[in-house]
Amino acid sequence: SALYRIDGWGAPYFSVNNSGNITVRPHGTDTLPHQEIDLVKIVKKVSDPKSVGGLGLQLPLIVRLPDVLKNRLESLQSAFELAIQAQGYESHYQGVYPVKCNQDRFVVEDIVRVGSSFRFGLEAGSKPELLLAMTCLCKGSPEALLVCNGFKDAEYISLALLARKLALNTIIVLEQEEEVNLVIEMSKKLSIRPVIGIRAKLRTKHSGHFGSTSGEKGKFGLTTTQILRVVRKLQDSGMLDCLQLLHFHIGSQIPSTALLQDGVGEAAQIYSELVRLGAHMKVLDIGGGLGIDYDGSKSGNSDLSVSYGLQEYASAVVNAVRFVCDRKSIKHPIICSESGRAIVSHHSILIFEAMSVTAPTTPSMSEINLPFIMDGLSEDARSDYCNLSDAAMRHENETCLHYADQLKQRCVEQFKEGTLGMEQLAAVDGLCELVSKVIGAYEPVQTYHVNLSIFTSIPDFWSIGQIFPIVPIHRLDERPEVRGILSDLTCDSDGKINKFIGGESSLPLHELEGEGGVSGGGANGRYYLGMFLGGAYEEALGGVHNLFGGPSVVRVSQSDGPHSFAVTRAVPGPSCGDVLRVMQHEPELMFETLKHRAEEFCGQDHNAALASSLARSFHNMPYLAAMSSSCSLTAMNNN
Ligand code: PLP
Repeated sequence: SALYRIDGWGAPYFSVNNSGNITVRPHGTDTLPHQEIDLVKIVKKVSDPKSVGGLGLQLPLIVRLPDVLKNRLESLQSAFELAIQAQGYESHYQGVYPVKCNQDRFVVEDIVRVGSSFRFGLEAGSKPELLLAMTCLCKGSPEALLVCNGFKDAEYISLALLARKLALNTIIVLEQEEEVNLVIEMSKKLSIRPVIGIRAKLRTKHSGHFGSTSGEKGKFGLTTTQILRVVRKLQDSGMLDCLQLLHFHIGSQIPSTALLQDGVGEAAQIYSELVRLGAHMKVLDIGGGLGIDYDGSKSGNSDLSVSYGLQEYASAVVNAVRFVCDRKSIKHPIICSESGRAIVSHHSILIFEAMSVTAPTTPSMSEINLPFIMDGLSEDARSDYCNLSDAAMRHENETCLHYADQLKQRCVEQFKEGTLGMEQLAAVDGLCELVSKVIGAYEPVQTYHVNLSIFTSIPDFWSIGQIFPIVPIHRLDERPEVRGILSDLTCDSDGKINKFIGGESSLPLHELEGEGGVSGGGANGRYYLGMFLGGAYEEALGGVHNLFGGPSVVRVSQSDGPHSFAVTRAVPGPSCGDVLRVMQHEPELMFETLKHRAEEFCGQDHNAALASSLARSFHNMPYLAAMSSSCSLTAMNNN
């Protein structure tokens, strides 16, 4: 497990058991040994053709772990409670979950249910998010905050006002100065007194990728001048008492507590100024930014890593707010955070299968027909070859590589001119590869073809180069012999993963074993990989490139029954028909068209078999099917 730094990014939830499989500790450090869940057992159980209503789920698969989600949420809450107690802070922490990080119904419902005892709320950034947040919070604590961020029109604002009428503790946060006019107008029209927040544009700047929202030129929030204008406008409308919250968000993955304290301190100053100006301030909302350590290095050196844990984060926030408020002698505000990544990232694991491998093949010396090559070479290329041979005799590796490279380039030119045959070019390629291999300059990297779409399931890798830990979920008691990159199913050269944690350009992997081969963890020759810490953002950002849809999803809880886990929900991924529908095709009509065509061209004899084969194609997922699922067309041909 050290090879993959599992202890660094995975603790306390993921480790390797005695069978060499990844095991989940669903309650973090409070997990008892018999409660640990073997990931391979989950995959076997849900993909077994006898399970899930006799169908078995097809991979790729998202395994959701509500116990891990609960543990993350409770750990965040405890970290703030401890910091508040230790520092004698005279108010409380009351977080909200930004639903944009993962809007899955069960994720949001779990957070509201688990968080209701400590008044945990939700944050929404669009009208559909607000609708789902309103619905879910009907079952939450009445004090839980419903923070309304994002761009707003009259409809958004009237929905948020309606939420207040429904006794949901709703706060409309002004992100643009103009929104204040709409809020004043709509609230008067509907006779609903709003609670208003302001998002401040801080001067503190987070310089990482996710920090582009921060600083004076950031996309969101109000400048100092705009805040003052809004205060005046509210005062003139007799609504300054409605202004109760100050919000800021300097970007996700804040790398260090020093930067965090800088931002929180600046916001606390604005908060205290708003108190001085007469607003009835109650809440300081520090936004998101609580980071996670994707590479387990705790370095804080890049977007991949942060140099603090939950406790250090909470202590730094409480300290920064208390310091400013005490100096200004103002009442300590309720501290709210909008942590998304830190709450949901760990709870879901994407599991996918490597189907085949392409390895670069280096010929042996005896396979290379030297006289044949020499025959077609130009004078210059011949002299490169001679220089290469001389350097090889003298064991001058650098010189060897230089002449091999030059020889290859000249031969490619000759091929393009039409003076060298394809067999000769291939032989020169082989010779040059052999030279690199013999002098150790060449590390063969194999390409593992994975049954996955990176565009659909790991979109942040493709779009912003976000790196997630990827690890085989079994055979971790065997030393991986090979280094590989992962290539997905899409017809797109960007559909590959060739950057991994630790700055590596390939991943240590095991050789694939044939069907039924002996494989660790009872995986029957299959090779499963897991992408971890991807529970935030990836699901909603993923598209349908090449018409690959999302993975199947299962929800797995720790259970004290005969097994350590219970599958409480299993949803197959979208079928070919489902993804076609996304692009306005009509699978039912398509089926009819193709069926009529079959009747016309194939005669009556095979109609039934063709129709059922077609129907199956619409019904199945777009991903590669396991070899065992027989194809009825083959059966038909054998008839
Ligand atoms: N709040 C706001 C306003 C955001 O824009 C974001 C994300 O960018 C978040 C909260 C969540 O941030 P994080 O995932 O870093 O917790």
